[in-house]
Formats: sequence, C-alpha cells, structure tokens
Amino acid sequence: MYDRDEIEKLRAQVQELKHALQHARHLIIHVSPTSPEAWRLLRFTCKSKQEWRQWQRDTINKLLELTVDDRTCPLCGQRFTPVSLRWHLDDSHRMSRCSVFQAAIDLVHDGHIEEWRANEIQENIAGLAPVMELCKADGVNCQVYTNKHNNQAYLTGPSTRRSYSVIFWEGGDRFQVQASNGCVELFHCSAEDAAHALIWEHQNPLKRWMKDRG
Ligand SMILES: [Zn+2]
Repeated sequence: MYDRDEIEKLRAQVQELKHALQHARHLIIHVSPTSPEAWRLLRFTCKSKQEWRQWQRDTINKLLELTVDDRTCPLCGQRFTPVSLRWHLDDSHRMSRCSVFQAAIDLVHDGHIEEWRANEIQENIAGLAPVMELCKADGVNCQVYTNKHNNQAYLTGPSTRRSYSVIFWEGGDRFQVQASNGCVELFHCSAEDAAHALIWEHQNPLKRWMKDRG
C-alpha cells in the first residue's frame, strides 16, 4: 500500500509527465513541414467528444483537398499512394496515423477532456428533468447521482434504502430503468413509465422487497 506522501509524489510526477507530453506534441507540430493552411486546420476547440470526432473526419477531407499531388501528406511531408495517404490520416488499414495529426488530435483531447466531462454530466442531469418533475408532481422527491467514471447521471427514489430502480436518460424523450444491481428492466421507455417505476417503488417498498427475496 502507498502512503499519502507517496501518492502525492506520484500525482506530481504524473502532472510533470503530462506537461512534458503536451510540450512534445507542440514540438512535433512545430518542427513538421506543415503548410500554414494545414496548420490552421489543426487549431480547434470544441464542446464535446462528438464534435472532436467530427472535426477529425472533416479535417481529413480538408487536408486531402490541400495536397498538391494527391501523394504528399500536407502535415508531415511523407509520400504515399493517393489511397494510402487517406489511410495515413484516418488511422486505418494497419497504417499508423500521421504523427503530426495524432499530436494535434491528442492536444485537443487533453486540453478539453475535463470540460467535456462536466458538460456531459450536466447534459445527462438536464435530460432527467422530465422524470424528476413527474415524480415531484406525485409527491416523490427523487435524487440525482453522478458517476464521474462514465459521466453518467442517474435518478433514484427519495431513499436509496427504499429504492431499487435507477433511471438513466438515453437521449431525446427516452429513458432506461435499471435495477440497482445494473440489470436493465426497461429500455427506451417514456418519462411517464420511468417516473412510474420510482413512484410505485416508493409507495410499495415492502412488495418489492419481498419480491427481491422471494
Ligand atoms: Zn503525415
């Protein structure tokens, strides 16, 4: 087991390594023969992981338009066949990705990951609001919990000891009811159905309790 001092020391080392890695990525981009037009495409900020992925796809197409001869990578200057140049940029067909593009992708990722995480959790909490309101209208005050490992938010009944179901937002107006052990009981259900699960359990805790042990 590590003691507190050792954990702090390791944490500081991880921070140092992260800074060194960021510096190395900037350096890779800086020393490459990237043209100013291509370089402009690598500077990017975005609000979510989805936007980041879309930016990668868009950038590959724009970079391919920038090539003078269909063969020379506009970022690192290496030469390919026209088809393998795309593979070099999109990391497919067992080609390792262009190290300049990879450095740019990782810089955007590491510079934004904390912000994306917070946005995603907030979005998931907001998505649960309709279920919360329906429960409240029935006199049942739900609780929101968040899981920072997967950026999820979920809703339970007023007391975790009484509640056996948790509600997740799937997106749009669809929800998922899971038992507290993680088994999915209802996929793609409406806010009304999800709220019903929590309200019913709140009103009939003993029935569920007996069923669970039956
Ligand atoms: Zn390249």
